[in-house]
Amino acid sequence: MSTPQHPIGRWHAAADALTPETRLFINGEFRDARDGDTFESIAPRHGGFLAHVSAASDIDVDDAVRAASAAFDSGVWSRADRRERQRVLVRLSELMLENLDELALLESIDSGHPIGDARSVDVPNAARTIRWYAEALDKVYDEIAPTPENAIALVRREPLGVVGAVVPWNYPLIISAWKIGPALAAGNSVVLKPAELTSLSALKLAELGREAGIPAGVFSVIPGLGPVAGQALGRHNLVDKIAFTGSPQVGKGFLSYAGESNGKQVSLELGGKSAQLVLADVEDIKACASAVAWGIFYNAGQTCHGGSRLIVDERVHDELLEEILAVGRSLVLGDPLHEATQIGTIASKVQLARVLEYIEVARAEGATVHGGNRVHPDGLAEGYYVEPTIFDGVDNASRIGQEEIFGPALSVTTVRGVDEGIRVANHSDYGLAASVWTANGSVAHRAARDLRAGTVWVNTYDVSDVITPFGGIKQSGAGRDRSLHALDAYSFLKTTWINVG
Ligand code: NAP
Ligand code: MG
Repeated sequence: MSTPQHPIGRWHAAADALTPETRLFINGEFRDARDGDTFESIAPRHGGFLAHVSAASDIDVDDAVRAASAAFDSGVWSRADRRERQRVLVRLSELMLENLDELALLESIDSGHPIGDARSVDVPNAARTIRWYAEALDKVYDEIAPTPENAIALVRREPLGVVGAVVPWNYPLIISAWKIGPALAAGNSVVLKPAELTSLSALKLAELGREAGIPAGVFSVIPGLGPVAGQALGRHNLVDKIAFTGSPQVGKGFLSYAGESNGKQVSLELGGKSAQLVLADVEDIKACASAVAWGIFYNAGQTCHGGSRLIVDERVHDELLEEILAVGRSLVLGDPLHEATQIGTIASKVQLARVLEYIEVARAEGATVHGGNRVHPDGLAEGYYVEPTIFDGVDNASRIGQEEIFGPALSVTTVRGVDEGIRVANHSDYGLAASVWTANGSVAHRAARDLRAGTVWVNTYDVSDVITPFGGIKQSGAGRDRSLHALDAYSFLKTTWINVG
């Protein structure tokens, strides 16, 4: 379970030696919540205590928002030379990589991501995102409108003001970076509310941001409970935009908060029930099986765009299922602090119960269940581990075919031909991502056109980068993270019409 460079126990020893920052970061300083409140963070790898983390009350949220607003109005960041913002954010991304091991370890112990993924995916991806937006700053031009000759009209992007970012626990660093990268680059002040389950890497990010030179108040991090701190941010009249990722229920709550307060902008990324559509002429069954399996089992299925529905032509069902089961058996499920681990934990006890409950629903609905057990790898009896699970013979209209489980569970539904495949794939309240596997180029183009989702992959799954937009339609939300379009999401367009006679 280890490589020669990294003897067994290296990460366990490092985790034991960690003393994570657990206080709120407001106006450039770490401090306790005003009322001294804390909540417990649990390590999902063993189900035991990890840290007491400060819990922001509405007063702390108000402090953070007022500091953000004052910093914005002062112009120290919002009106800074964009090359200065660029320099500071590039430095932040460098510091993230210089602190790779610590950030990765915090992410791993708090969320249950395998340390290997945290080091090779989460931290580098988050750092790249921040750097990418910083580098864009002196490459993106604004517009001059085609006015009559007697006028010049400038269309300039200006920062919105105070952005509240409320993020979930499944990819704490990456999803935070998707919000704070473009929001800070565009000149906004940001108040980040991490998920209660995973605040530690965000607090480290705050420390690195200060070290990089982000001025006080411009970037605050306020751990706390959703209904308290999250709601206070959503209802605050000095917050100009909420950028949210999480469940549809809470996302819709933010729309209500906005409507009941200042009508702030709200962007929502709300997960999905993404279809992986495999047609009978799929060229490489092994490659397809591997992509389908990783498309759902990566991060123990806790991925907003996890490919949780396999819609497969009946003519290749048996062969493909056999291959997917083989991939599932080959995955190394275990202690996230072992470098060989490929699949870590479910992030919380509540989520574990939810996943196990859905496995019972699948049985009750008559699916054939492969796997479906809580397991206890590496002697971690109280950790939150579930083996890769496949529900075969699923009716797409059933609960198991429709509801987001957010665990390592793939439902399999058979169809015949591309028309039925697309129809079944689109039969969902969600529309975040989809894929199609076929050797026929025209069929691929047609399916890519007709699959109703924000991202469609052809003969692959889950490859992406900051260069392309990410987000959904229908109940998967509205608005886009990533790409240059995200800069627009944190800006407003100002028209300046100049009479030149
Ligand atoms: P969630 O409740 O929507 O949490 C997302 C964020 O919203 C967290 O920071 C959370 O804070 C905050 N929040 C919770 N209740 C709030 C409220 N009443 N007002 C304001 N903010 C609030 O998601 P979850 O409970 O972690 O997960 C539930 C389900 O959502 C999952 O099983 C999955 O289906 C889906 N989900 C989707 C994504 C995605 O990426 N799209 C990510 C995670 C979960 P706390 O952490 O303190 O609750
Ligand atoms: Mg935790």
